[in-house]
Formats: sequence, structure tokens, C-alpha cells
Amino acid sequence: MLDTNDREHTTSYYAASQRDKLPFDTLTSDISTDICIIGGGLTGVATAVELSEQGHKVTLLEANRIGWGASGRNGGQIIGGYGGPLSSNPEKADRMLGKGAGDSINKMGLECVDIIRKRIEKYQIQCDLKWGYLNVALKQREMNDLAAYHDQLKAEGYPHKIRLLDKKDVREYLGTDRYIGGVADDGWGHLQVLDLCKAQARIAEQLGASIHEQSLVTSIEYGTKVRVHTAKGTVSAKTVVLCGNAYLAKMAPKLAPKLSNFVLPATSYMIATEPLSEELAHSVMPQNVATCDQRTALDYFRLSADNRMLFGGVSNYRATPPKSVTATLRKKMLHVFPQLETARIDYHWGGYMGIGINRIPQLGQLTDNVFYAQAYGGHGVAPTHMSGRLLAEAINGDRERFDLIAKVKHLPFPGFSFLRQSLFASGMSFYKIRDALT
Ligand SMILES: Cc1cc2nc3c(=O)[nH]c(=O)nc-3n(C[C@H](O)[C@H](O)[C@H](O)COP(=O)(O)OP(=O)(O)OC[C@H]3O[C@@H](n4cnc5c(N)ncnc54)[C@H](O)[C@@H]3O)c2cc1C
Repeated sequence: MLDTNDREHTTSYYAASQRDKLPFDTLTSDISTDICIIGGGLTGVATAVELSEQGHKVTLLEANRIGWGASGRNGGQIIGGYGGPLSSNPEKADRMLGKGAGDSINKMGLECVDIIRKRIEKYQIQCDLKWGYLNVALKQREMNDLAAYHDQLKAEGYPHKIRLLDKKDVREYLGTDRYIGGVADDGWGHLQVLDLCKAQARIAEQLGASIHEQSLVTSIEYGTKVRVHTAKGTVSAKTVVLCGNAYLAKMAPKLAPKLSNFVLPATSYMIATEPLSEELAHSVMPQNVATCDQRTALDYFRLSADNRMLFGGVSNYRATPPKSVTATLRKKMLHVFPQLETARIDYHWGGYMGIGINRIPQLGQLTDNVFYAQAYGGHGVAPTHMSGRLLAEAINGDRERFDLIAKVKHLPFPGFSFLRQSLFASGMSFYKIRDALT
């Protein structure tokens, strides 16, 4: 469920409903390129589009299928903000990275969503895009934080409509009494994320890039020309960009251990019901906005274009899935929407997301000509697009914004990998207990 042995997509709703199921060829020869991108998730394909639009010769190598990793398995929720905790704390960003950093990171938080909006418009990407988002609170402490967040956005002149909601207002959006309030935001939304990912690979290809699936990179020879090896071919490149995120260590543990030490692969799971009747779909989510609660191990949900409830959660640092993903998530879903008692569960799946200690995206270079981007935690759909832009800017010699993010200090996770995983599983349990008690 978390990995697949046949290099094909997992059994997700996204894979089943993907519009473009045509594969890309495997690399079977020795080729030369300007830029070789390793990993065909949203970071990889967004970078490929940016660089191909600028006329670079790009080759992208994906071990499995485009969007096979977290990018084709997630909640499909477009959430703004770039810089993790820094995006809601400009003063901290200024202190950490210098005056003006907070403002710059704030702008990137808007820009990352704008990249998606404009790319979908420009290339007419079919991916069930729907705007509208809801952050909901279960407790007064969470509501106070949401109210402060709402006031901050208003004070900063946030360009989209946002609205602070009480318990009664939430009922306009959700057919449940579970939440005491929330913030509605017209600037964020949701989509069929595997379609967005695959479409960007196609766009890059149409702009001249070579895209290869089932082409696992097994080793890299560093130098002024970097040589990238797969089982059946090699790519000689002036520049390489590593976009394997949490799957990098899982696919080829010896490829870039230095990078993998800085991300912990955390799991999250999803279920999709059968298509709901119009009446039932309207009763649970009358405005079909993507929704998240505020807990560490949060629930997140939305409707698909064919009215399925896509419900996610059970985020964890443990590598083993719950005994039954369907039973665990269905129980959580019914806690929110008891009216879905008889809805059949058609799909369940899970995936790994990369989390860094400080929860700030990691952008940087291993050598002068080997770049990387990783560690978006559970908020990567929009930020991956910002990373693509920043990587392209840096490769083109405009380093100002790239350097600002690359300046953030990151710490490696302590301990050997097995120790590390259990250490952080315990850490997460602490936050879950805190969520339950306060
Ligand atoms: C269940 C789940 C729900 C989530 N929900 C949301 C959400 O609703 N909203 C949100 O914003 N974020 C969400 N996220 C997080 C988001 O999906 C990720 O942050 C984002 O997709 C990361 O994209 P990426 O391209 O960096 O990595 P990935 O999508 O993981 O892509 C990495 C790719 O690199 C490939 N690869 C790795 N090593 C090699 C190699 N050696 N050679 C070739 N290829 C290689 C892998 O096969 C993989 O396809 C969720 C994540 C999960 C798992």
C-alpha cells in the first residue's frame, strides 16, 4: 500500500480515475542533457515545466510512474504558504533570515497557489479544480489560534475572501455539528492531483523535455558533468536536481544518504467512498470545500468530482499501516458524517511524506551543479510548485529567493533509521495526547 513492487501506481482513487493513463518510455540508452531531474512527483514535474518553458533541455527520470509517490496519493488539497511555520510568523523569519525575509516568504506563500492557478489556465489542464477551503476547530484553543490567523491575514491584506465562522456558520459548509468554528478561505482549493502531476509531465514533454518512467536512478557520478545511472541507461547532465523527497531513501538508499538524513518519512492514509447521490453529497458538503481540522494527526476531507467522499488521516511516523486502513478511517469519517453509514468504501491507500525537524521546506545544493528540494510535510501540493520556480531561478543564475530559503539551517534526525522512526513515533504520541487533553 505504501510501496509497490511492480513499479505501478498504488490502488488509489486517483490512479483509477486518472485521465491520461498512457505511459512514458523507460530510459534504455546513454543520453546527454542540460538538466536531469530525478523524481517525477510535483516537485520534479513543476521544475521540468519551469525549465522547459525557458528553453533548457530537460530529462526527467522517475523510478515508477509520474505521480507515483506522495504527489499522486495525497488529499488533493491546495494549501497556500511556503516556509512551514515561518509562513505564519514573519517576525521569526526576519530574525532567522534577515530583514524582509518574512515579507518575501509571505509572498511565496501566495505565489505557490498562483502558479497552479495560472498553469491550469494557461495549458487548460483538466484536473477537477475547485476553489474553497475550510480550516475547522474542535476546541477553543484551536479556535483562538484560527481567529488570530484570520486577523493576521486581514491585516496583511490577504487578496482572497476569508471569513471567520462560528459553529452555526460552519453548518453552511459541512453537514456536521462536530466543529465549534473555523475559517473559510476562497484562495485555496482542491483537485485531482495525479491529473495535475501527469499533465505537467506532458506539458514539459511538449516543450521538449524527455520524460522516462520506470527508470530508477541507482547511482550518481559527480563532476563538472554529472553522470546519472539507471539499470538500462545513463544521462550525462550539466546540472542535476534531486526531487525524490521521502521516497529517495526508499528507492535507492545509497543514492544520497546525506539528504535522506534530513527527512523522516511520515505516513498518511486515505479512503474514497462510492459516488454519493447528489442529495447525500449536498447534505455532507453543500459547498464542497476542502477541509482540515487542526490536530497533529488531523482529519482532512473533500468530495471528488464524482461525489465520492475522500477522507484522510491517521498521519503517523510508524512505517506499519493500521491493521485495517478502511475500518480505522471509516470510523473517523462516521464520527464527522454519521449520514455516510451505508456508503461503500471503494478505495484505500497510503503514502509517505517527507518531514524535516523544523517543518520548513529544504532547498539547497549538494555540489555546485547538484540541487535538491524536499520536506514539505503534509502541505506540499502548492509549495512543490514554488520549489520548482526557485530551483529554475537558481539554475538560471537568479539566486536571491533560492538563497533565502537555502539559508535556513536544518538538522539531521538523530540515530540510525530504525531508532529515528520510533523516537519520532513517540514524539508524535506526545502531541496527540496534548491535542486530546487541551
Ligand atoms: C496521504 C497523503 C496526503 C497528503 N495530503 C496533502 C494535501 O492534501 N495537500 C498538500 O498540500 N499536501 C499533502 N500531502 C503532502 C504532499 O503530497 C507532498 O508534500 C508532495 O506531494 C511532495 O511532492 P514531491 O514531488 O516532493 O515528492 P513525491 O511526490 O513523493 O515524489 C517523489 C518521486 O521521486 C521518485 N524517486 C525517488 N527516488 C528515485 C530514484 N532514485 N530514481 C528515480 N525516481 C525516484 C519516487 O518514485 C516519487 O515518484 C499528502 C501526502 C500524503 C502521503
